[in-house]
Amino acid sequence: SVCAPLPVLGRDVLVPLVTGGEVDYAALDYAASAPALQRVWDDVAAYAPYYGSVHRGAGYLSQLSTDLFENSRRTIAEFLGCRAEDQVVFTRSTTDSLNLLAAVLPQGTRVFVFETEHHASLLPWEQRPDVEVTYLNAPRTPQQAVDTLEKALAAREPYGPALVCVTGASNVTGELWPVRELAAAAHAHGARIVLDAAQLVPHHPVDLGELDADWVAFSGHKLYAPFGAGVLAGRADWLRDAEPYLAGGGASRKVSRRADGGVDVEWHTTAARHEAGSPNVIGAYAIASACQALTEAGFDGLVAREQELIARLRAGLADVPEVTVLSLFGEDAARVGVLSFVVEGWNSSHFAAALSAEYGIGVRDGLFCAHPLVRTLLGSEPQDPGECGAPDAAPGEKSLNAIRVSFGAGTPDEHVDRFVRAVKELVTNGARWNYRTEAGR
Ligand code: PMP
Repeated sequence: SVCAPLPVLGRDVLVPLVTGGEVDYAALDYAASAPALQRVWDDVAAYAPYYGSVHRGAGYLSQLSTDLFENSRRTIAEFLGCRAEDQVVFTRSTTDSLNLLAAVLPQGTRVFVFETEHHASLLPWEQRPDVEVTYLNAPRTPQQAVDTLEKALAAREPYGPALVCVTGASNVTGELWPVRELAAAAHAHGARIVLDAAQLVPHHPVDLGELDADWVAFSGHKLYAPFGAGVLAGRADWLRDAEPYLAGGGASRKVSRRADGGVDVEWHTTAARHEAGSPNVIGAYAIASACQALTEAGFDGLVAREQELIARLRAGLADVPEVTVLSLFGEDAARVGVLSFVVEGWNSSHFAAALSAEYGIGVRDGLFCAHPLVRTLLGSEPQDPGECGAPDAAPGEKSLNAIRVSFGAGTPDEHVDRFVRAVKELVTNGARWNYRTEAGR
């Protein structure tokens, strides 16, 4: 059977597709979307011939797909250390998960969020007109983050329902946030906490019970699975008590006409309440497959390997005085394999373009959907011409955007070495490639 338990296909489980074969391309943009693992792709391909819509069919394919979908939910719950009463809701992405949580907040919830968050965790809360949002200033140490939160929570007391939203690992600096301590602070003041774990889950074990966090949100496409599926996992009560995020089939248990001509609906009280419509079964299965691949590979080894790569990268960049690594918590902060920097005299967009065109290295430049954080880190006012785009700096001005390099499972030393070599060459000889403007940016 392809469905239960998720099959182990006996291959090396951590081979990213993009770096295999003939393509000599260094994908160093894992923080945007990590290359799907070969194992995930194979699992999805093995399932493809058995494809069927879940929950509503008596036929074999429907039953099999239902098993696969619900097994995937259980696999993910186990991967996240969910408590027995927690729910795992399938969404489209981290953004969708956090918007779902915003939609189910009890009336008048107070939300506390650091200004340094990704826009996905910064912006959904104000969509609710009855919710009061307190924005917390950027802390400069992990302890300051805890103190800032403590103070803000204490100052606003007493309140009814309250929620703290915080990133587990920054998509800009890669720095780890003190989530366990922040969860303890939130709970000490009667608030709940949701972790934006988009950058944490791919790099670190996350155990909801052990962290004592209430919810966690993440995306499949950053966890070595394809696009289109994400997860919100955690406490059931607010999810169960709220109106469905989407109204429709699958979320409703019973629908009947009333005597007055209207319609009465009994909604499901399980995760299905917020999953109306035909769900993304393949996306859910792919996430579960990735969770299994990471579990089988072992997080200890993955973390150790990533720390080796970070050390290699840091050592290489330390030789380039023109490079400034961006950091909120300081040089020695614990981080995942995500690092942003600026290069003196260069526009970050031009630098990233040169890395791609001349060296086959894919990185990201811009503001990384975290404008207030990038503003704090660069000490300049980001000017964003588009959604998350990269503006040009005027001559002599501070950088208005940054370059981000990120990696993870399957990244070879050679990619980091090529990157460091390329940075050094560009800093020394970059002018001849005409990626710099005449103003010397
Ligand atoms: N939070 C963080 C920390 C992220 O890095 C991202 C993606 N860059 C998101 C949220 C949003 O993820 P998605 O685009 O998959 O919704």
